[in-house]
Amino acid sequence: MLVLGGTGEARRLAAALVAEGVDVLSSLAGRVAEPVLPAGDVRIGGFGGAQGLADWLDEHRPRAVVDGTHPFAVQITGNAVRAAQATGTPLLRLHRPGWTPRPGDTWRFVDTLTDAAHAVAAFGTVFITTGRQGVAAFAGVPGHCLVRSVDPPDTPLPPGATLLLARGPFSVADEVALMREHGVDVVVTKDSGGSLTEAKLTAARELGLPVLLVRRPPLPDGISTVATVEEALAWVTSRSARPR
Ligand code: NAP
Repeated sequence: MLVLGGTGEARRLAAALVAEGVDVLSSLAGRVAEPVLPAGDVRIGGFGGAQGLADWLDEHRPRAVVDGTHPFAVQITGNAVRAAQATGTPLLRLHRPGWTPRPGDTWRFVDTLTDAAHAVAAFGTVFITTGRQGVAAFAGVPGHCLVRSVDPPDTPLPPGATLLLARGPFSVADEVALMREHGVDVVVTKDSGGSLTEAKLTAARELGLPVLLVRRPPLPDGISTVATVEEALAWVTSRSARPR
């Protein structure tokens, strides 16, 4: 079983499959310097596009593939669809639901990181939590930016930005304290969903702060999708061994 990982859900799935006695190989992109490793076997690094992944599937013949990558990781998800079709490998997308606003939230959805950068131009202190790969979009933000990422961004930060290197999960109390300490006026996030990084949304609600969320990219047509680790586990364990 190949699990395309890089998320907490993919790690939970790998652990559950190992516990069921299923041979699991998790694949990580290698973006994070010191990744939290899943249970089971792990490989790190790209496959070389859809063709590279198809070649890998032909060589290794996993019973199936579960794409548990991040909702914004569109390239690998598209590659997985093409490679699975080309090789006849069963593919399931584990796609956690996006966040939904609750009473007291002041949320605004935008389509892109660039739209988010324009929308925060009127704010004083902007808390950017969109991941290090998206920071470049905020280079021209006139206000003060607090940028949080796991590893330092490769691209220049907005002028005068404060960089905070940290890996979730974060507690609501810590998020509230951080936002107060830095005088945050608006929070920017991708609509990543999931519980690991949700505390910033609760903190913003408690502090009455607006949140800008970048909408999710669409999923490729026709991909079989489940929302939870439990459903993915059931899909995997219900599949019989794939004939060679
Ligand atoms: P992406 O743009 O969809 O993928 C770019 C390339 O990275 C892919 O074409 C592939 O290279 C390689 N890749 C991505 N995920 C891989 C995996 N699990 N195993 C092996 N190769 C992988 O992906 P991304 O947005 O850069 O995200 C990279 C990783 O970080 C993903 O595993 C994702 O789950 C995780 N992540 C992403 C975000 C986010 O906001 N995008 C947030 C948290 C975690 P080849 O073409 O050479 O195969």
